[in-house]
Amino acid sequence: MGTLTIGAFARAARLSPKALRLYDELGLLRPARVDPVSGYRFYEPAQLERARLVAWLRRLGMPLARIRVVCELEPAAAAREIAAYWARVEAETATRRDLAAFLIDQLQGKDEEPMTLGIRYAMKSDIGKVREDNEDSAYAGARLLAVADGFGGHGRGAPASAAVIEALRPLDTELPAGDLLGALDQAVHEADAALRDITRSDPAMEGSGSTLTALLWSGSRLGLVHVGDSRAYVLRDGELFQITHDHTQVQSLIDEGRLTAEEAASHPQRSLLLRALHGGGVTADLKLHEARPGDRYLLCSDGLSVVVPVQAVHDTLSAAAEPDDAVRRLVDLANDAGGPDNVTCVVADVAELG
Ligand code: MG
Repeated sequence: MGTLTIGAFARAARLSPKALRLYDELGLLRPARVDPVSGYRFYEPAQLERARLVAWLRRLGMPLARIRVVCELEPAAAAREIAAYWARVEAETATRRDLAAFLIDQLQGKDEEPMTLGIRYAMKSDIGKVREDNEDSAYAGARLLAVADGFGGHGRGAPASAAVIEALRPLDTELPAGDLLGALDQAVHEADAALRDITRSDPAMEGSGSTLTALLWSGSRLGLVHVGDSRAYVLRDGELFQITHDHTQVQSLIDEGRLTAEEAASHPQRSLLLRALHGGGVTADLKLHEARPGDRYLLCSDGLSVVVPVQAVHDTLSAAAEPDDAVRRLVDLANDAGGPDNVTCVVADVAELG
């Protein structure tokens, strides 16, 4: 069989000639030959397989640049790439689903008489056994809990994380008028702007930045904001749940099935952040969470989570009578494990008021 006209090829591939012209322009599928006089496009029958793959990937919603990559791969590698793409889509959809559920609740007026919850809290930050500075900063108040882990080296992380906490602090006194996520989003932008100002006024601060994980209360509702690799957990009914997702290179490799959690623990680049506050604009994870009486929340910097196994965190949070005991014991665990990094813990117990 010779080459096919674009019309015949389109019919065989179950695509429109218009789609084929688009794929040509985008470099996804070039015709085998273009008539120099008429400009008509001709295709080889062997190109049908690729045309169909492109069409399926388009239907999947994959961006064109990524389709181009998949089409150049061997089948096994292409399969891995599609799996990785889909894992990412599902993670993003889950975040949007939570937001949709919140908006539905709010618009249906379920928010009218929220249970009023109060918290008892404690925080502890320690330099660890190896570092020369403590670059972590934290805040714990009646409505706001926050941990920020500064980076940049040579003491530049401390002012960065302190600036981030300062930008959040007003949330503990000014009620965010039913818009927890809006208030947190605004505070994150202010934190990022503060870092931009610091870097501009002091070029030595170039390359510094900070993580941020914070919880803000309103009634029984919790707003969670998160950028980087500090973490938030909740101990509920005896089980420990991590409610943040690390923005690290290794976590994305785990999500895509390219790395196991065990391999990640010893990965040389396990602290490489994909997202952080550094004054260059940032997209933070924002989500709502329903707090319950009896919940115990933990915010921590990676100085805890990298060296203390999650089972030990669970056991310690379960056993400690008061938030005070919990933060002290958790910091001790990190230091007993060598204390390679600054370690900061904030623990809060939720109880019904009244
Ligand atoms: Mg750290």
